[in-house]
Amino acid sequence: MNVKVNKKAAQKIKNGYPLLVEQDLIGKFPDNTLVTLVNEANQPLATAYLSKQNKGIGWVLTTKNEKIDQMFYANQLQKAKNKRANYFADETTNAFRVLNGEGDYLPGLTIDYYNGYAVFSWYNDFILSQKALILQAFLQVYPDILGVYEKIRFKSDIANYESAHIHGNKASEPWIVKENGVNYATYLDEGLMTGIFLDQKNVRGALVDGLAVGKSVLNTFSYTGAFSVAAAFGGALETTSVDLANRSIDKTKEQFLVNGLDVDAQKIYAMDVFNYFNYAKKKELSYDLIVLDPPSFARNKKKIFTVEKNYGELIEASVDILNDQGTIIASTNAANLSTKKFKAIVTESLKNKKVQFAIERQEQLPADFRVAPEFLEGDYLKVLFIKVKK
Ligand code: SAH
Repeated sequence: MNVKVNKKAAQKIKNGYPLLVEQDLIGKFPDNTLVTLVNEANQPLATAYLSKQNKGIGWVLTTKNEKIDQMFYANQLQKAKNKRANYFADETTNAFRVLNGEGDYLPGLTIDYYNGYAVFSWYNDFILSQKALILQAFLQVYPDILGVYEKIRFKSDIANYESAHIHGNKASEPWIVKENGVNYATYLDEGLMTGIFLDQKNVRGALVDGLAVGKSVLNTFSYTGAFSVAAAFGGALETTSVDLANRSIDKTKEQFLVNGLDVDAQKIYAMDVFNYFNYAKKKELSYDLIVLDPPSFARNKKKIFTVEKNYGELIEASVDILNDQGTIIASTNAANLSTKKFKAIVTESLKNKKVQFAIERQEQLPADFRVAPEFLEGDYLKVLFIKVKK
């Protein structure tokens, strides 16, 4: 079926921009189907799929004249796999992203590799409807895969669950993966989250590689304590992990245990980070390194946390309990916030606290989370390493 796009959209498509929004299309359009996008003169521009999702109403799949079939999917998966050759060859890491949606020119799907298993994440109903074809294509490209899981990361009309096992063996629980030589306990079929956010591997790598040596570390919004474990592995003096969720206590203990690290030497709290900051201040606790990695949006009781409104408070509270010459690792995954804006929020709060500071290092998505040059919006992660002189 042909769907007509306006002049502006035709130009965007020619430039390789993949995301379609409602205003791009002229006239009525279908949902959850493949279409040929044509310009106002009815000349074909691209093959796309339309499917409502969080953002936009569809994605361009190709501007070449090619059929969308198992071979197409296998080609995209193979090209993506070739680009990860260095990860597959790295004996210290066996968990990483092998397909990053539009960054690998297969929008709507990401695939993570967990030490022999694969976890598919679907982002809309059209791409989900292609599951059988895509799974066959995947098995063609990864014949040795042990098993496959899936996550439904949107409000689907055809699947009313979050997580399922869809092929091959089931991984034992926890399933141990390795990153920069550190073990992480993961659960591949427990809701949407697996126990590790693979996009933070560079930051964990920095902690393993010397940044944490001899330091006292406070890890806020710690989830399963992955940053704490990386820091402890990297020679931290002690770690403190703080997360609101009760489950994070046992999960964090487990991460230390699977690395043979002394759990009793670590502090792990289930509490609101703002309460923890107050507690630490009252008890005159202080740290050499503080990690801030909040969700982009969170609600605790009546309080709503958003990066734009509340990140500054986190920075200011951190400065109060940071040792002189200490480091704050300030991270955000808020896609709608530019690096420039994030830096502005952070530097304004540091100026409010009247401290000298220097941004010594910056991280973004690791190389396995490929970003298409035509779609830099996909580059959502921003991490600043800030040295503070008090
Ligand atoms: N930094 C973690 C990932 C954080 S996920 C990592 O790299 O693994 C976000 C976490 O923030 C969740 O575990 C959630 O429970 C926690 N959280 C949300 N609001 C919070 C609050 N006000 N205080 C403490 N933790 C909070």
